[in-house]
Amino acid sequence: METLPDSPLRGNRASWKLALMEAKHLGWYWDEMHLLHDTGRGHPETARRYQVLGDALVPAAEKLGATRIGRRVITREELLRCHTPGYLDIVEADVAAGASQLRTGDTALGRESDRVSAAAAGAGLAAVDAVMGGELRRAFVAVRPPGHHATPDRGMGFCIYNTVALMARHAMAEHDCDRVLIVDWDVHHGNGTQDCFYRDGGVFFFSSHQRGIYPGTGAEYETGEGDGKGTTMNLPLPAGTGGGPVLDAIRGPLAEKMKDFKPDLVLISAGFDSRVDDPLGGLALEDADFAALTRAILEIAGEHAAGRVVSVLEGGYNPDGLASASLAHFKAMAGGDAS
Ligand SMILES: [Zn+2]
Repeated sequence: METLPDSPLRGNRASWKLALMEAKHLGWYWDEMHLLHDTGRGHPETARRYQVLGDALVPAAEKLGATRIGRRVITREELLRCHTPGYLDIVEADVAAGASQLRTGDTALGRESDRVSAAAAGAGLAAVDAVMGGELRRAFVAVRPPGHHATPDRGMGFCIYNTVALMARHAMAEHDCDRVLIVDWDVHHGNGTQDCFYRDGGVFFFSSHQRGIYPGTGAEYETGEGDGKGTTMNLPLPAGTGGGPVLDAIRGPLAEKMKDFKPDLVLISAGFDSRVDDPLGGLALEDADFAALTRAILEIAGEHAAGRVVSVLEGGYNPDGLASASLAHFKAMAGGDAS
C-alpha cells in the first residue's frame, strides 16, 4: 500500500484518493441500443430523452472514473420470476406481428421493443450481480423503456417488463439476500411493482407520487396483504408538492420501519417526471431534492445493507430536466458514503 508523504496537503490527498476509490465502486449503465425502442411520433417516452440523458451522463461518469456496466442477456426463466408465461407470449406475438401498441395497455411497440426491454431488465440484473458480488457498491442503471407500471400479466404505462421487480427477485433468487427495499419516487405510482410484492413480506415497497393521476392506485391505505401486510407504504401528494415531504417520509417513517425490516439491498425506481416542469407530472421536485433523497437512501443502505444501492431509471419526460436531475442523483450516488 502506498504511503502518502507527510505534508500539509496529506489530508486533501487522502480524501481525493478516497473519492477516486469510491468512484471505482460506483457503476453506471447507458447504452445506445435503448434508442432503438421506437414509440412513434409525438410520444413523450422518446429516444431523444434518452440521448439527452446520455449526453450528460456518459462524460460525467467517465470523468468520475465510475465503472461501466455491460449488456447482459435476460433469460425467459428470469423474466418468469415476475411475469406470467402468457404475458411473455403476448409481448413476443405483438412485436412479431408488427403491432404499434401492446394489446394489454397503453404501451407503444416497435420492431425492437421486446429486445430493448429485455436488455433493460438484463442491465438491471447485471448491476445487482456486481453490487451483491461486491465488485461495486452502488450503481445507476439508465435504461428505457421504464418498467414500474408492468404487472405480472400486463404491460401498461409505457412499460413492458418490470425491471426493478425483476432485480429484486434476482437478488433474492441468486444472491444471499432475504429482504429488499424498493423506493419509487417517480411522479406516477409504481402499481406494477406494488402488484408483484403486495403479498410478499420480503420486499418493502415505498412509493411517493402525485395523487389522482395515472394509474390511479397508491392510496395510503394500500399497505400490503397476507405475508406482505405492512410492507407497502404509499405517499400520495397533491400537485405542486416539492421534495420536502418525500424527504421527511424517507428520513422519518421509512427509516423507522427499516430498523425492523433491515434490508440487504436497496433499489430505487428513479423516475424524474416528479421534477418541476415535467410535461406529464405536476410535482415540483428540484435537482437538489433528488440529491437529498439519494443521500437519505444511502444512509438507510449504509445502516442496514452494507451501502448497497442500485437505482434504475423510470420516467422523466422533459429531456433537459431528466438529464440534470439524473446527474444530481448520480453525483450524490458517487459522494456521501454513509457506511
Ligand atoms: Zn412516471
